[in-house]
Amino acid sequence: MSVQVVEPRIRGFISLTAHPDGCAANVRRQIEVAKAGALGAGVSGAGVSGAPGAQGVPGASGELGNALVLGSSTGYGLASLLVAAFGYRASTLGVCFEKEPSETKTATAGWYNLVEAHRAAEGEGLRLETINGDAFSAEVKQQAVRALREDFGPLDMVVYSLAAPRRRGADGTVWNSVLKPVGAPYSGKGFDLRRNEVTEMAVEEATEEEIAATVKVMGGEDWREWIELLGGEGLLAPGCRTVAYSYIGPEVTAEIYRHGTIGKAKEDLEATAHELDAMLSGEGGGAWVSVNKGVVTQASSAIPAVPLYLSVLFDVMKDRGIHEGPIEQIVRLFAEHLGPGRSPRTDAAGRIRLDDLELREDVQAEVLRRWPSLSTETLGELTDFAGYQRYFEELFGFGVEGVDYAAPTEVNRQIPQLVAL
Ligand code: NAD
Repeated sequence: MSVQVVEPRIRGFISLTAHPDGCAANVRRQIEVAKAGALGAGVSGAGVSGAPGAQGVPGASGELGNALVLGSSTGYGLASLLVAAFGYRASTLGVCFEKEPSETKTATAGWYNLVEAHRAAEGEGLRLETINGDAFSAEVKQQAVRALREDFGPLDMVVYSLAAPRRRGADGTVWNSVLKPVGAPYSGKGFDLRRNEVTEMAVEEATEEEIAATVKVMGGEDWREWIELLGGEGLLAPGCRTVAYSYIGPEVTAEIYRHGTIGKAKEDLEATAHELDAMLSGEGGGAWVSVNKGVVTQASSAIPAVPLYLSVLFDVMKDRGIHEGPIEQIVRLFAEHLGPGRSPRTDAAGRIRLDDLELREDVQAEVLRRWPSLSTETLGELTDFAGYQRYFEELFGFGVEGVDYAAPTEVNRQIPQLVAL
């Protein structure tokens, strides 16, 4: 038994601890939103009242079959797992890369998220299994093939939601993803998450090797490997759909994001979607990139300028009653595009767009109007930095309503349906 009081130990954009009860409460809230969204009922108590995507969507109800979610423990992947499982009663296999607890240390937040997702799935008679390991590796891919063959059968949906800092090749080569501008150095506003200060920052332009490494980690190659392997093994059902997530974002982060190294990786992901679509189309199947809204996750906190932009964006979107988090976005993705009986609506480039509200003209005009006046002193007045911080702490299970943080809690919790490697 490792019962202890768990305190936050946040260092910049990571937390060294996670609170098991806070993570569990977050997951339970998301499950409620997932269920309500799939039924097309109004979503209440989700903190997004007024978000048109989450309220009153005529839900695509019906069962989904089997789903594989790569990157299933946090952010958009966790939301996808919960919507597929609890919204559409899919049997789901998730793959993630989390640290389990020890006698003295807490697990990572994603681990505790899945402990609760498994507990809830078992309570509802849903099949939910997890492989905790490196999704880039051949071992994990083979493990997934075995689990699917033995326990699930062919897949009706594959969600690719990995956000990884690095990738290790079979021969031991390591590629590191970097967040740098391409073609020219970046200088502009940034945010120091350790000191909560708006800064002027400069980032050197990426080298050719850094661009190639970022594409290797965050581009489409690994998604293609998964789909080709599963197809070759006969594990993609007729009409199987696959989706990977992308981001475009606003002008104010364009040099570092859209036109930066990560933007190159996302271009590669889109090109991959077209290739995979040619493989899967027919009987309603296909491959898509869904361009999602900017939200607070471990991955997005690490991108220069993005935390500052999101703080302004949330204020502007909340003013208009159109703010959404990952679970509301994925509810919308399934209810309007990918769920049973739905046909994806795409832009001219073939992408599903869930960032329509973020990129709405009046929203971006207001962000741009405020941007030049942003400083440490004006954060309270011009941004929802308090909201950003709250979401950030919540990622690790802290600051969650209804959790008694003074009470000791068991940190050594295990995931029941963990598929052994
Ligand atoms: P996240 O950090 O919350 O989640 C990343 C997931 O990947 C976790 O489940 C983690 O365990 C898993 N993972 C990382 N490395 C792995 C590995 N080697 N093997 C297995 N699993 C691994 O990230 P997120 O922000 O939800 O991002 C997911 C996707 O959504 C990314 O493609 C991202 O670009 C995209 N996206 C994010 C935002 C945003 O604002 N956060 C917006 C639009 C699109």
